[in-house]
Amino acid sequence: MTEATYDLAIIGTGAAGYTASIYASRYNVSNIVIGASVGGQTAEAHLIQNYPSYIEIRGSELMEKMKNHVETYGNPIVFDNVDKITGREGDFTIETQSGTSYNAKSLLLAIGMKRRKLGVDGEERLLGKGVTYCSTCDGPFYKNKTVAIIGGSDSANTASLYFSTLASKVFQIYRKDKLRGEPAWADKVVANYKIELIYNTTVVGINGEEKLTSVTLDKPYQGSDKLELDGLFIEIGAEPDPTLPKQLNLELDENNFIKVEKDQKTNVPGIWAAGDITTNSNHFHQTITAAAEGAVAAHNVFTTLQ
Ligand code: NDP
Repeated sequence: MTEATYDLAIIGTGAAGYTASIYASRYNVSNIVIGASVGGQTAEAHLIQNYPSYIEIRGSELMEKMKNHVETYGNPIVFDNVDKITGREGDFTIETQSGTSYNAKSLLLAIGMKRRKLGVDGEERLLGKGVTYCSTCDGPFYKNKTVAIIGGSDSANTASLYFSTLASKVFQIYRKDKLRGEPAWADKVVANYKIELIYNTTVVGINGEEKLTSVTLDKPYQGSDKLELDGLFIEIGAEPDPTLPKQLNLELDENNFIKVEKDQKTNVPGIWAAGDITTNSNHFHQTITAAAEGAVAAHNVFTTLQ
C-alpha cells in the first residue's frame, strides 16, 4: 500500500524528529514522522534537569509533551521500524517493517543511536532475564532487589540514583577511578550511601541459567570476583547504526556519524540529518542540541523547497 506524497519524511521519533516536525509544519512543509520508539533516548532518561523551562521532568513525560505538540499540527506520526529507503531528491520511498510504504520529496534522518553492548559472555542469553539496557523501563521489576549498573557517565549515574530509591542494594561498576558526566549527577551518586561504587573494574562475564545470578569481575571485589545480583543494567552509552545512512550513500565519519553542513544538509541532495547521529553540535548529545538541529534542518528544508 502506498500513501500520499509528503514534502518531508522525518525518520526518528526523538527530540530532533519531533522538533523538525513542529518547525516544518509551521512553514507549511507537509510532513510525516516515522520511528520505532516513543521518544528516542530522552524518553528513557529517569529525570531531566537541564531542559530549559522544566526544572525537573521525567524523560518520558518530556517526550510525551513533544509528541503532543507535534500532533497539534495534524501531521501523522507513525510508530514503525523503517527497513529500507530508496529513490532520489523529489521522490523517496520509505518502506517499513509492517509492510507500508510512504513517499516524500525530501528526507530528514533523525535516527539517534543504538545502545552500546558490553560484548561479554551471557549478555545476549540473559537479556530480559535480569540483564537490561533500559533502567527506567525495567526498573520497577527490581523493587527491593540487588542490582548493578555498569558505566560512569550520565546514563549510569542517573540510573544509580533512580535505583537508590527503589532497590535494596545498588552497585555501580565503572572501569575508571572517577565518575564523569555532569557533576550535578556524579556528586549526588558519590554522596549517596545506598550506592556502592566499584571503581577500576570491568564485568567480563554474566552468569545464570534461566535468569541472572551473578557477574564475573575482572578483579576481586571484597575477596570475590563474583558479584551476586538480581538485575544488571548496562548503561554504557550508544553508537550510530549506519544501516540506513549506508543505503542512502551518505558520507559518514570514521565512527559512523553522518557528516552534515551547518544547515544540517548531508552530501546527498534532498537528504538532511539531525540529532545525535550527526557530526554537528560538537558531538554534545543532549535533548536540547538534538531539538536545535531538528529546527535548523526543518528551516533549511523549507528554504530549499521554495
Ligand atoms: P556516555 O558515552 O557519555 O558514557 C558511556 C559510559 O559508559 C562511560 O562512562 C564509558 O566509560 C562507559 N563505557 C563505554 N563502553 C564501555 C564498555 N565497553 N565497558 C564498560 N564501560 C563502558 O553515554 P551516556 O549514555 O551516559 O550519555 C550520553 C549523552 O546523553 C551525554 O551527553 C549525557 O549528558 C546525556 N544524558 C543525559 C542524561 C540526563 O541529563 N538526565 C541522562 C543520560 C544521558 P569511559 O568513561 O571510560 O569512557
